[in-house]
Amino acid sequence: MAKITAPRGTQDILPAQSEKIRNIEALLLTLAESYGYRELRTPVFENTDLFERGVGDTTDVVQKEMYTFEDKGGRSITLRPEGTAGAVRSVLEHGLLNEALPLRVSYLTSCYRYEKPQAGRLREFHQFGVECFGAAAPIADAQLILFAKHIFDIFEVDNISLEINSIGCKECRAKYYEALKEYFESKKDAICGTCVQRLEKNPMRILDCKNKECRDIAKESPVILDYLCEDCKEHFEKVKEYLDLNGVNFKVNPRIVRGLDYYTKTVFEFVSDNIGAQGTVLGGGRYDGLVEELGGKPAPALGFAMGIERLVLLLEALDYKFPEAKTADIYFCNIGDNALKAALSLSEELIADGFEAAIDLVGRGLKAQMKYANKIGAKYTVVIGDDDIENGVLKIKNMETGEVSESDFINFAENFENLYLEQITQKEFEYLNIETEEE
Ligand code: ATP
Ligand code: MG
Repeated sequence: MAKITAPRGTQDILPAQSEKIRNIEALLLTLAESYGYRELRTPVFENTDLFERGVGDTTDVVQKEMYTFEDKGGRSITLRPEGTAGAVRSVLEHGLLNEALPLRVSYLTSCYRYEKPQAGRLREFHQFGVECFGAAAPIADAQLILFAKHIFDIFEVDNISLEINSIGCKECRAKYYEALKEYFESKKDAICGTCVQRLEKNPMRILDCKNKECRDIAKESPVILDYLCEDCKEHFEKVKEYLDLNGVNFKVNPRIVRGLDYYTKTVFEFVSDNIGAQGTVLGGGRYDGLVEELGGKPAPALGFAMGIERLVLLLEALDYKFPEAKTADIYFCNIGDNALKAALSLSEELIADGFEAAIDLVGRGLKAQMKYANKIGAKYTVVIGDDDIENGVLKIKNMETGEVSESDFINFAENFENLYLEQITQKEFEYLNIETEEE
């Protein structure tokens, strides 16, 4: 029979890769906690209206990229294309904005967008994102950007650039829209059909069009920074001041508008030139209008989202040293049925203590068992035969150094733990020694 393959634009995360990703995710969630963010999990699918209203019905995401279908009850359902709309829906639905503000939530989720698959662009991808509600002051924007930068610091990525912009509020945007309309009106014949529609409904979206002709024309368009109201201007100046104070390098790029409709004031992107055309690894900003748009009392909010796959691409491109792949701590070789029984109960004891312990599950001979123990990189091995059971003593072999230690059956788990810890301390000691010698 023909094999079934994974759907276009999706990726299996195989065990070797999932370990790397789990490590990345753990670091991200821990960092988020240090900034006061707590994890929020929302459903993979939501009612379609949420994204039409929350992301914006003139955006590429809503117009072209959503996985929308009717369920058996006739409801229009959409697989989430991003995390913010669902997070806002959830905190409103559960009244979390009535509690202590600012409220900070983080998430690690899969997202779905019907896009043309290519390097760094998938149909199912993953985002790490954070949202902060109830903080209007520019210090919040600055801290959010510092948090984002902290992520790249943790992974020792120094070759990434931060670009920031302010896209103002409703007031300054009204004047800006007029200027944009005037500009694009005269070039109506050259821009794409979607952008012609955007001209009427939401001209700023034209600046985010992926079409080459539209992009070229947009290069000469008026920029929002020239239209900011006093309040937005001052907000932006403060954000920049706080970033400067913290030694953050950034570039003001007046062309950043972000792909989703809900942004106001500060927007920012971390862009790498190490991972090809899809270089934006992380993007975010302030979205003061969204909570109200989704039916809540007006509340300022801001956040960012980072593509996990793009981060992995970046780390691989920069030869990031991922922690060594996990291997078994101990493998019990057995000779005969009694030994197999002993191996099973000893391994249960060690597993209960948190070790990875393996035994022979397929009836291999001793030689083949040893070979297997080597293949899985077992750190220690124990060979159990009838004699050993009779004598009540087991030999534990350190596979790296060849050293052999002994233990009785009763205290095996405890002795093994001591042996193991000693080895780790020894290694750390050697490691530290080398470090101090170099200094
Ligand atoms: P792009 O300009 O690349 O289309 P976007 O503006 O649509 O990005 P956002 O909606 O801001 O992206 O999503 C935040 C992050 O999620 C991006 O910076 C990127 O790292 C990641 N991302 C977005 N779309 C995809 C995708 N199709 N495949 C993989 N990662 C993605
Ligand atoms: Mg996109």
